[in-house]
Amino acid sequence: MSEPRPPRRYLSRRLALIYGSLLLLVLAAVLLLVSQVQRAIVTQQLHDDLLLGQGVFQRALEQNQQQLTQAAKVLAADFGFVDAVASRDQGTISSALNNHGRRISADLSLLASLDGQLIADSRDDSANGVFPFPDLLQLARERGAASSIVSLDNKAYQLVVVPVKAPLPVAVVAMGFLIDAAVVNDLQKLTGMQVSIFGRDRHAKTNTETNASTESWQLQASTLTAVQADALKQQMASADMAAVQTLQLGDVPFQSLVTSIGDRDNNEVAVLQRSLDQALAPHRELQRYLLGLGGIALLLALIATVFLARGIVKPLQQLQTAAQRMEAGDYAVNADVSSRDEIGDLAHAFNTMRSTIANREQQILDLAYRDPLTGLPNRTYFTEQLQQALTANIPAVVVLLDIDRFKMINNTLGHALGDELLRAAGARLRALLPDRATLARLGADEYAVLLPEATDRDGRALAEQLAGAMQQPFVAGGQTVDLRASFGYAVTPEDGNRTSAVLRAVDVALYYSRQQRRGIVRFDPALQPFRAEHLSLLGDLRRAVAENELRLYYQPKVNLQGSGHGYCEALVRWQHPTRGFIPPIDFIPFAEQTGDIKRLTRWIVARALGQCREWQQAGMPVNIAINISAHDLLDDSLREFVAESLDRSGVAPERLGLEVTESGFIEEPERAMALLGQLRALGVKLAIDDFGTGYSSLAYLKKLPVQELKIDQAFIRQLRAEGDDAAIVRSTIELGHNLGLQVVAEGIEHQEQAILLRDWGCDRGQGYHFSRPVPADDFRQWLQHAGATLKV
Ligand code: C2E
Ligand code: CA
Ligand code: CA
Repeated sequence: MSEPRPPRRYLSRRLALIYGSLLLLVLAAVLLLVSQVQRAIVTQQLHDDLLLGQGVFQRALEQNQQQLTQAAKVLAADFGFVDAVASRDQGTISSALNNHGRRISADLSLLASLDGQLIADSRDDSANGVFPFPDLLQLARERGAASSIVSLDNKAYQLVVVPVKAPLPVAVVAMGFLIDAAVVNDLQKLTGMQVSIFGRDRHAKTNTETNASTESWQLQASTLTAVQADALKQQMASADMAAVQTLQLGDVPFQSLVTSIGDRDNNEVAVLQRSLDQALAPHRELQRYLLGLGGIALLLALIATVFLARGIVKPLQQLQTAAQRMEAGDYAVNADVSSRDEIGDLAHAFNTMRSTIANREQQILDLAYRDPLTGLPNRTYFTEQLQQALTANIPAVVVLLDIDRFKMINNTLGHALGDELLRAAGARLRALLPDRATLARLGADEYAVLLPEATDRDGRALAEQLAGAMQQPFVAGGQTVDLRASFGYAVTPEDGNRTSAVLRAVDVALYYSRQQRRGIVRFDPALQPFRAEHLSLLGDLRRAVAENELRLYYQPKVNLQGSGHGYCEALVRWQHPTRGFIPPIDFIPFAEQTGDIKRLTRWIVARALGQCREWQQAGMPVNIAINISAHDLLDDSLREFVAESLDRSGVAPERLGLEVTESGFIEEPERAMALLGQLRALGVKLAIDDFGTGYSSLAYLKKLPVQELKIDQAFIRQLRAEGDDAAIVRSTIELGHNLGLQVVAEGIEHQEQAILLRDWGCDRGQGYHFSRPVPADDFRQWLQHAGATLKV
């Protein structure tokens, strides 16, 4: 029986889970590491790029500055221009300024007097006001040129200032490029960076010193989107100058470098930036590639795991199946695992275990189902086979055979030879039978055959065949031995549809065959000695004793050696008021079992003595023998009863004979023998009944206080001048005489038997040949007529 098991956990799934998550973990770690390394590399690279970009940016500005300086100097050296300045010829001044400015695409050109008054302005023809960059004016007068990025009208300009000399300085000319979207776009192309230009409003700064003005930085141009540029502007106040840093614009981080581009007080700055995401983009490709590779590896690992698990699980499942079949009792399956690994070893061990268990099971089965002496199946096996046939509703015949007088053979020839005979008998029977028949040895000298798919006719034919085989002499230990057997058979399902019923039926049939010497007997419910209705017989029997339904019949024991036939055996008869005649064999064994035999025996003793006295008084002295059953020999009060009965009847004790079968003193021999001794002491005669069939040994025979020995009918029935029976009967007669006993032969049905027995010296004979058991009156008539003249 297998116990309830917790829900199943699949090995393959568990392995896949473990391997899968391990791989995922490694993959995640690798990706994390790679992305961090990449970020570090990219950040470093951006740092370098930004510094590089800064250099490029500065150089581009320098180039512009040189170009501007060149153009301004050319203009300042132009004679016409110098004249016009000196003469303040406004028209010439303006056209020269414009011409020179247009030539180099300057966005701004100014002319101012040395004291800072604007003389000409490309933005405004009226040109009044002051020059906005007095420090540059001063620097230009001192050094001959000055330049800077400046804020003007909230725009950034790259401005160059040079003095106009005639030959002493008379004015300054300024030329500037507007740093606008186009310029920063070009710079972006040049550097690969986002470029933003901020200018600080000095006045705003000084005015709002206290609240660290965020408003002081003005965006002048940018390659960023408007939103990003705005976000950058917000962070300008806190940004570090000249250091690479990460600034978050919206949700995009930028590596940024704020660099001063004006010469004066960091009031003009350029912010160079590059998006980290963008820089990482090519590396993301690698990450995706890694991810894809990891995914494929994971998939492959899972598939491999499943295959691996199958490789383990499948043989294990085979083992499991084999184990389950073993559990169900099927040992024929070998776990078929051919792998040469540990699982193969396991399967091998399993198979070894299986065959060991199978062998052991077989041995146990053999012990349980086999008769060790003959090797034939035993009673258990036979019963099971019968049970199967009954369950399957297969009609079948069961034959039971019992070797007659086997005990005697065993005792006289020895047990070794007895065993050999039993084996030989088994082998001979087996050889006769078809394969489908089961032959079993049920007990000492009892064999049974189960023939399936058979009917009554088959049963009789089979029994006859078996009987024929048993009649052939056996040779054992160099001796030829004749065995004889009794046969009973039953047919299923007519004679019973349960094993116990069928076995009882064949038992009954065999019993009749043996008891009544009727050869092969088929079970008949009328034979059944222990039918259920016999239970009610128990009450009936008690009443029968009380109400005189019982009768004694008498059968003569004829004197074979001369005349004078005054011996008889009393045999009980029951005339049941409703059931009619009931033979003794139907109620004596029953009465023995219930203990009612005691009462019955007492009734018989009393009745027989009464009859004896009657005949005696009629001048016809007869010796009457009655049958005492084995149970009576354990009845301690029997002696007393017999003694009293003898007294009361006045019959001489020696007229009463008691017949005892050998089985009577097998159970408690000492006690039975003591009682027999006491009975003998009363003067009654004792006889051994059915001699040769029971268990007697010569040792007992010598000790028993008996006077008569009755040879069993089995030896007389087929008695001929020659043969086993003749030998046994003759030696028994001789043995009896040697022990000083009278020898009586029972069951004489033919004249020839009587003559043989007479010639062999047998003292008395009993049998249908002389008379059947008859009522007292008939017996008296027989005695007076046939008996008087009878001579064997
Ligand atoms: P048993 O004591 O061996 O009695 C002899 C049996 O053989 C009697 O059967 C008798 O009718 C039968 N018989 C006699 N001559 C022949 C013959 O030539 N051929 C054949 N085939 N049979 C013959 P019965 O009367 O049916 O008794 C059967 C058995 O019942 C007796 O065997 C005995 O064991 C028992 N029995 C009978 N009467 C009594 C009794 O009063 N008390 C006890 N305790 N047992 C009794
Ligand atoms: Ca008898
Ligand atoms: Ca007898």
